[in-house]
Amino acid sequence: MTSTIDLAANIEWVEKKIEESCLAAGRDRSEVSLMLVTKTVPPDRISQAHELGYRLFGENKIQEVAGKWGDPALNSHKPEFIGHLQTNKVKTCLDLCSRIHSVDRMNLVEALNRELLRRGERREVFIQVNTSQEESKYGVSLNEALDFAKQVSRYDTIEVTGLMTLALFSKEDALVRKCFQNLRDLQRTIQRQDLFGKNFRHLSMGMSSDYPIAIQEGATLVRVGTAIFGARATPDSFYWPERKTED
Ligand SMILES: *Cc1c(COP(=O)(O)O)cnc(C)c1O
Repeated sequence: MTSTIDLAANIEWVEKKIEESCLAAGRDRSEVSLMLVTKTVPPDRISQAHELGYRLFGENKIQEVAGKWGDPALNSHKPEFIGHLQTNKVKTCLDLCSRIHSVDRMNLVEALNRELLRRGERREVFIQVNTSQEESKYGVSLNEALDFAKQVSRYDTIEVTGLMTLALFSKEDALVRKCFQNLRDLQRTIQRQDLFGKNFRHLSMGMSSDYPIAIQEGATLVRVGTAIFGARATPDSFYWPERKTED
């Protein structure tokens, strides 16, 4: 399916654009991590990226992680989880993934807390924020995000080190940029109130279509899929349903 793409060349291209964006923004390249988003990408292709030195991978569906990341080619490496997390998938997610970028509601926080207490563990997570006011996006709304952060800060099992967002899908850069600025402003507000301490410094924002803008606006981690692995067979609506479901 993806056999015709040149992985190394695509990565090189994205790396070059990241470097240029950092330069333009007066930022050091080391401030920005490149996550390779591997949904629908087969294990042998992920393993190629691994051989090129990449270690930061993102997956959007627990079922896919369960079916794919047990492959020996992946050397028991764990992806980070960037998709909508259902409470009944919390255990599997904690087993198979590392950092979770998509904590966005209290019943999920409680489910994570219960399971982490049971295990005697602590887990690093990001809070996902809906910065675009679009109904179709997951994430806590901008208005409720500070309150939500305050509530999450009471859980010792959950270490919040960042915020995550998907920007508006728009050809108008200014609208996309505004979403990233909203996330950065929220980060500053939370930092001023010192809810999560010094480790709270990540902004997970920017995808194939908009990572240069995200870097200009302060992204510390960009999540890039199609620009590296080629187009996916599944439509985006599979990952971001039109209508918000309850869980
Ligand atoms: C798929 C996905 C990405 C990457 O999207 P591309 O457009 O393929 O770069 C980023 N973030 C999340 C949450 C995703 O599900």
